[in-house]
Amino acid sequence: MSCQFELIRDAEGNILKLNTNQTGYDLLVNPRLNKGSAFTQEERQVFQLQGKLPHHVETIEEQSFRIYQQYQSYDSDLGKNIFLNALHDTNETLFYRFVGEHLEEMLPIIYTPTISNAVEQFSLQLRRPRGLYLAYPDRDQMETMIANRSNQEIDLMVVTDGERVLGIGDQGIGGMNISIGKLMVYVLCAGINPLCKLAITLDVGTNNEELLNDPMYLGWRHKRITGKEYDDFIDLFVRTVRKYLPNAFLHWEDFGRDNARRNLERYREEFCSFNDDMQGTGAVTLAVILAGLYASGRELSQERIVFFGAGTAGTGVADQLFAAMVRQGSLPEAAAKCFYLIDQPGLLVDDMDGLTDFQQPYARAASEVRAWKISGKNPNLLDVIHYAKPTILVGCSAVTGAFSEEVVRAMSEYTDRPIILPLSNPTSRAEAHPADIYEWSRGKALVATGSPFADITYQEKEIRISQSNNAFIFPGIGLGVIACRPKKLTDEMIWAAAEALSQFSPVFKDKDAPLLPDLSKVREISLAIAKRVIEEARNQGLATYQNEHSVDEAIQQVIWQAKYYPYEKMS
Ligand code: NAD
Repeated sequence: MSCQFELIRDAEGNILKLNTNQTGYDLLVNPRLNKGSAFTQEERQVFQLQGKLPHHVETIEEQSFRIYQQYQSYDSDLGKNIFLNALHDTNETLFYRFVGEHLEEMLPIIYTPTISNAVEQFSLQLRRPRGLYLAYPDRDQMETMIANRSNQEIDLMVVTDGERVLGIGDQGIGGMNISIGKLMVYVLCAGINPLCKLAITLDVGTNNEELLNDPMYLGWRHKRITGKEYDDFIDLFVRTVRKYLPNAFLHWEDFGRDNARRNLERYREEFCSFNDDMQGTGAVTLAVILAGLYASGRELSQERIVFFGAGTAGTGVADQLFAAMVRQGSLPEAAAKCFYLIDQPGLLVDDMDGLTDFQQPYARAASEVRAWKISGKNPNLLDVIHYAKPTILVGCSAVTGAFSEEVVRAMSEYTDRPIILPLSNPTSRAEAHPADIYEWSRGKALVATGSPFADITYQEKEIRISQSNNAFIFPGIGLGVIACRPKKLTDEMIWAAAEALSQFSPVFKDKDAPLLPDLSKVREISLAIAKRVIEEARNQGLATYQNEHSVDEAIQQVIWQAKYYPYEKMS
């Protein structure tokens, strides 16, 4: 018998109970429904669980206490990650309750930076498959594979092809851990219902020779498909999920630079989809920069912004900043002149070969640069700082230590309070350590990082380092989208999300405070973001769901909390 279940809510959206047809062993091994030792005596009778559990009926708090003792027995972060994933595979409610109670401690374990290690170890460490693996050689069974999903009602899908995972490149099928991890963050940070989510890996091969030669590799051992073959496969996937899951929000995750943008652009007008590497990173960085500008008393339109690394994240952030400048009244030609993008060949200039279509709008005029006295063929980061005197420096290159002492000192020479953002992940790939940036800029720089860093001490003052973590933005956007099902996700909705986040910045109370709030506020922030996204969707006439409800009611109708609801048997 297939597993069926249904959450029953009251008119206000409060969850009252869960009805299911599963019983006995099947119920205990179903992570979505299992309560373990917390099944009540009545439920044990109704669901044929007598004798299958220790006598004492526990509360979720008691279970959580035990789990913490077990968690602490693991020495390594990867060990802790595997332990938490095993809990997730056993009892999702307890997992979300437990990790939610220790969010600041455990988010770096289930998500960045530890997840990069878990991704690399995917084939070796796999305990239990989760989500859907849609492999290119199985493409003629696409409909069957989608139909075989465990959760039938889907609000949210995170899909990856694993080509460019964090800063660690092509990880093939290991990208599945990122899809799973992102969905966990949605649930933890915004209360998305875990019964309605789906992680998907599109296995289109890998160009990672180490994986191709690894006898343990679990994916399709084949070079990545490209061109028409790839595009047709993506289209087959999109058409199939649109047919069977027309209301699901599609989150593209960790695609290669060109495919990331192409896939998003190809479908973004057609239905509601989102690329976190481009749009999420763009929005969270915009929020950080808006806060930094408030602290330094400057205007966005007056900034000179250098990007080191002009790939998916770098150009995604540039696009958001550019759109914000235009929204604030700058002419597009004037706004474009605020940007200096540096990639492997150096500063991007318009007579260079190999510029991608998304880099082109930011390429500087070659004539402008010709007069610069530089030692190499193209201006490097230091050349650009000396000639352009930037006020903001953003690192999206995954080049460890690229923001050297000389770079940071040069930034501080030309600007009183430079904004310096080494965004690369994992921690080992950061362009600079924040303690060094403080030291080299004599405490003047406004800093946020991509990876989490422990507090630092500068001039005997304890400083919390803001993490420009996408977890501040995408869960709230997802919650808003699920609650109003807009026909598409627009730049205006993403701008609204960034603005809502920036308003939580501690700098509005103290100009020397960190640029972002700490993670303990993330649920409150996600709610504020969701509200703004729904309002914007309604203003634009794009919301298709729950328009009869107030914004708060619409959110309440879809939100989920990690607690045990009473179970009743489905007839
Ligand atoms: P990507 O591969 O699309 O882009 C990286 C770019 O850096 C490429 O264009 C590459 O050519 C360039 N590059 C490499 N070496 C360089 C060098 N020596 N000089 C100049 N440019 C160089 O990857 P991405 O998705 O843009 O991610 C880049 C980094 O940003 C990753 O570490 C990722 O984890 C991080 N990131 C952080 C956040 C965040 O902080 N919230 C969000 C997304 C991505």
